[in-house]
Amino acid sequence: MKVLITGGYGFIGSHTAERFYKEGYEVYILDNLSTGNKDNIKIEHKFYNMNIEDKKCCEIFENNEFDVVVHLAAQINAQASIEHPYFDAKSNILGLINMLDLASKNNVKKFIFASSAAVYGSNKKLPLSEKDECSPISPYGVSKLAGEEYCKLWKTMYALDTICLRFSNVYGPRQSIKGDGGVISIFMKNIFNSKILYVYGTGEQTRDFIYIEDVVDAIFKSRNFCYADVLNISSDNQCSVNRILKIIKKLHPFDRVQYTSPKKGDILHSRLSNKYVTYKLNWIPLYSLEQGIERTYIWYKENFKDILD
Ligand code: NAD
Repeated sequence: MKVLITGGYGFIGSHTAERFYKEGYEVYILDNLSTGNKDNIKIEHKFYNMNIEDKKCCEIFENNEFDVVVHLAAQINAQASIEHPYFDAKSNILGLINMLDLASKNNVKKFIFASSAAVYGSNKKLPLSEKDECSPISPYGVSKLAGEEYCKLWKTMYALDTICLRFSNVYGPRQSIKGDGGVISIFMKNIFNSKILYVYGTGEQTRDFIYIEDVVDAIFKSRNFCYADVLNISSDNQCSVNRILKIIKKLHPFDRVQYTSPKKGDILHSRLSNKYVTYKLNWIPLYSLEQGIERTYIWYKENFKDILD
C-alpha cells in the first residue's frame, strides 16, 4: 500500500509519515520545504521537492498508484493570510484543487484533507460541533472552509473518497513556531533559550489542545472511513494559557513571564466537540495535557541545541 503525504516534512506530516510506515505503507512525501525540515523524517521514504500548485505534480501521481493521499501541505498562519491573502489562496485553494484533480484522475482510494478550527471563526458556542455555523475571520479560515467544499464536491462529481478533519490546536515534538497553534512550542523554545515567556492578555484565554499522537491516530483511522464527511479532531477540553504555564513550570522552573496586551482579533475561548468523531471513527484522545506536555518537553530538552535562534 502506498501513501502520499503532502507537507510530510512538517510537524503533523512527519508524525503521520512515521505512523503509516509503522503500519506497513510505502511512504511518499511531496513538500517544498517552505516550513518543513528534512531532518524531521528518519524513516525510509521517497521525496519530491515540489509545490502542490505545480502542474508537474501529475508525474508523481502517474508514476505511482497511491492508495491514500494525506493532504497537509498549506500556508498555515492565519495572521499571514490577512497580510498575504493571495498567497494563502494559491497554496490552500489552488494547491488543494491540483491535488484533488490528480487524485481523482489517478484512482486514489482515499483523500484526507487537513482542515482547521479556524473555519468556525467568530462562532462563540462552546463546544462547537460539526453542525454549528462556520464564520471564518481570516482568509486562512475561508480557504480551509472552501477546501472542505471542494473535497465534498470531488466526491459527488468524481467519486473520489474524501474526508475533512478539523484539527483544534495541535501540539507536540517538532512543531514549527511559525504557525498559530504553537504556543506550547514557543514556550518550550523560550525556556531553553532563557528568554521571557510573553503571554497575550490575562492568560485566562482557553484553547482546545490536542497531542500530535492522538491526531495522527485519527488521521490513520480515517483512511477506512467511507463517507465524504467533516470531523472535529480535538480533546473536547478547554485549557488556559496560565494552566499551560503551571504544567511546564512543574517540569522546568522559570520565572520570566510577562503579560502584554491581548492580540487583536484573538478569540477568548475555543473548544471543539469530539462526540461525532469518537462515534464515527471509534477514536478517542489518549494523552492528557500533562502527558503530552511532558513528552514535548523531553523532546525539546534533547533537541533544543538544534532549534536555537
Ligand atoms: P507545518 O508548517 O509544520 O507543515 C506544513 C508542511 O507543508 C511543511 O513541511 C511545508 O514545507 C509544506 N508546504 C507548505 N506549503 C507548501 C506548498 N505550497 N507545496 C508543498 N509543500 C508545502 O504545519 P503543520 O502544523 O504540520 O500543519 C499541517 C496541516 O494541518 C496544515 O494544512 C494546517 O493548516 C493544518 N492544521 C494544523 C493545526 C496545528 O495546530 N498545527 C491546526 C489546524 C490545522
